[in-house]
Amino acid sequence: MIFRSNFPDVDIEKIGIYQFITSNPYGIDDDKVIFIDGITDKKLTGDVLAICSHNHIDYPVVIFGEIAAGGIVTTVNPDYEYEEFASQLKDCGASVIICHPVYLSKTIEAAKAANIHESKIFLFDENEIQGLQPFLSLFSNQEINPVEYTPEEAESTTAYLCYSSGTTGKSKGIENTHFNMVSNLTQINVFEDQINHENIFMGSHDFFHIYGLTFLVHFVIIKGASCVILCKFKFELETFCRIIQDYKVNIAPIVPPIIWLLVNKINLIKERKYDLSSLKLIISSAAPLSGDLCKEFVETYNVPIKQAYGLTEATPFATATKTHEIVDGSIGILIPNMECKVISENNKELGYNKSGEFCFRGPNIMKGYLNNEKATDTCIDSDGWFHTGDFGFVDPQGNFFIVDRFNELIKYKEFRIIPTELESILLTHSSINDSAVIGIYSDEQETEYPLAYVELKPDKIQSDQLKEEIKDFVSQKVAPHKKLHCVHFIDKIPKSSAGKTLRRSLRAKNECVKQCL
Ligand code: AMP
Repeated sequence: MIFRSNFPDVDIEKIGIYQFITSNPYGIDDDKVIFIDGITDKKLTGDVLAICSHNHIDYPVVIFGEIAAGGIVTTVNPDYEYEEFASQLKDCGASVIICHPVYLSKTIEAAKAANIHESKIFLFDENEIQGLQPFLSLFSNQEINPVEYTPEEAESTTAYLCYSSGTTGKSKGIENTHFNMVSNLTQINVFEDQINHENIFMGSHDFFHIYGLTFLVHFVIIKGASCVILCKFKFELETFCRIIQDYKVNIAPIVPPIIWLLVNKINLIKERKYDLSSLKLIISSAAPLSGDLCKEFVETYNVPIKQAYGLTEATPFATATKTHEIVDGSIGILIPNMECKVISENNKELGYNKSGEFCFRGPNIMKGYLNNEKATDTCIDSDGWFHTGDFGFVDPQGNFFIVDRFNELIKYKEFRIIPTELESILLTHSSINDSAVIGIYSDEQETEYPLAYVELKPDKIQSDQLKEEIKDFVSQKVAPHKKLHCVHFIDKIPKSSAGKTLRRSLRAKNECVKQCL
């Protein structure tokens, strides 16, 4: 069956994103201060341009300058090593780079590898450094006549090129068009219609990641709300708390690792007497949030958590919870103008409460992967359904639940094992801090087995006896086919900055796999 949004479709304008924003669609007060630098208190009223920076007050200025001039923006994760950075620059054919000075040496090296001349590197700084100019020199001498797009152009012209987080494979350039962005903003406005100029947002979501780009850089502007920017490279819980207190932040869109910190460092927050009482809502997105953590947070702070789910390919939002209709563990309901089907491994459409792969269709689904027709055709079928690789189900009320990534499921003989199910059991063991379960393939047995990587609590000591105890602990709680085949200790479970477990890097640990089989 095809699931449709509980909301009627909304009209979406086929115009460029700059035209949309400057058309002031929600009639906000023009003089409003939108972005505030939470660290320094500073305030601001055709090619591919790459930005390599953590969140910065000038980031939105550069984005809108480039978009108004008819260019494409590609955002670079500033944590990238120079090879990944260079490979993105080459793949998207960037001709200009703007970077924060802390990433300058990496940027110079990556630019060289991508044949971009040093004179094309500009800085998020007021001063020249090593002969490189501040970014304002790029815009100040030019009078920009904002490019206007016809409906056809708005639908076909790429505005943003974000690179996928690459948790499961090589990072790909995702082409989000002007229309995709206008669509997602219009769609989420139905959910966030209560947001207005009185709201003050925490700006800790990375602007280089589509969640920060769409929600903080674009949505906050069109709603006339404010955003207090927290530079991520300085991320410290205490700065985060101070900003909430000083600027009376009332909505914090954050990722699960920050929710974890807020729960686990509550004693420190109380000891330093941070006043977080202005906080009225948390929006969790980008990675799985466990039901237990969500409950603990709500009990500790008495602030509701709503979830939003999406992918860069959906610009990014596909589902969200209405603030007053939060359903335990659900990632929400479909946003307007979106359709979803849940399909089985053999492509059969499933009904309510049956788990399968989510496939979405709607105006916010990307144009495709840049320079990669094969990958685009693999994930967008001839009927326009985008196959997400996420595994989950929909209940009869239309609430969506996500279980895991489809290609992370472990196929043991004829059974399917869900890694997150074993991980949540492991987390209840008194010695375990964190865990990640992956499937390892045995050629001999021609099947996969579950292997658990386990990060112990700081005071616990690794031993073979503890490994056995952990295996037994899980065996007592699951059906026989889900038993752990092997346990390995690891110092830290690798995670992306949004909190996604990087199972791919665990799979590369061949030594552990060999020992296990
Ligand atoms: P990205 O394109 O980097 O945003 O990654 C998209 C992936 O993040 C999705 O395919 C999901 O696996 C995961 N994801 C996003 N939002 C959520 C959420 N609210 N809960 C669980 N997983 C999520």
